[in-house]
Amino acid sequence: MRIGNFDLYSIETSRFALDGGAMFGIVPKTLWEKKITPDEKNRIPMCTRSLFLVSKYKRILIDTGNGDKWDDKNRSIYKIDTNSVNINNALNHLGYTPEDVTDIINTHLHFDHCGGNTRFDNSGKIVPTFPNATYWIQKVNWELATHPTEKDRASYLANNWEVLMENGMIEFVDGPGEILPGIKVITSNGHTTGQQHPIISDGITTVFYCGDIIPTSAHISVPWVMAYDILPVTTMEEKKKLLPRMVDESWTLFFEHDVDCEAVIIGRDGKKVYIKEKFKLE
Ligand SMILES: [Zn+2]
Repeated sequence: MRIGNFDLYSIETSRFALDGGAMFGIVPKTLWEKKITPDEKNRIPMCTRSLFLVSKYKRILIDTGNGDKWDDKNRSIYKIDTNSVNINNALNHLGYTPEDVTDIINTHLHFDHCGGNTRFDNSGKIVPTFPNATYWIQKVNWELATHPTEKDRASYLANNWEVLMENGMIEFVDGPGEILPGIKVITSNGHTTGQQHPIISDGITTVFYCGDIIPTSAHISVPWVMAYDILPVTTMEEKKKLLPRMVDESWTLFFEHDVDCEAVIIGRDGKKVYIKEKFKLE
């Protein structure tokens, strides 16, 4: 898909699984299991799907997935799989290497969005995965990530960004706006403080990177909100405000975590929002 100066590529950087109950908050299992089937431990299959934007001057990656710095215990808890899909293979397949990436936009610093920011080198030292990139992070999300609450402490892991800070590779963003030519972000605060959602648009086609405000196609409906969210009622209000715009302007909603559904266009029938079309970016 081409929008403005960018070619857009969808790339999968890992697979993993999270507890279905946590993913669907107050929605009863009898309802959500009809949409996504859990495994024997009640986990639902998830992916980390990044958007790779290529122009003449820039190669920008939105989010970096779970990465590879996991011990066996946590790899098993989250069923993390970077063998069948990973960043290197995905970039190589398109003819690029991590060294070619000029910019990383992290929607927020939960581990499944920035775990691939850094990696172990051969000596076991943590180094930036993308040595030539600038990493774009919302300032308020950084502040939360580096001083997490007890609720989200397990999701914010400093080894995904410490070395970037030491090397002066982080560029802080202050709220919504155009952070790179042709790439605007809007921000939300329900899932976490200062999540940024990139919007790529030429005025006709608009792609919205949902991140964790709508993690899968099963989370479009307003009350289908994750228990992970720090302010679930705020997430509902944010979705309610965005949905009419998504429908009226025919936004392509690009899902980071939905294994079976990459992107949709949605419609509205009275108050009910429905999926009009499911597709892959091509
Ligand atoms: Zn998150």
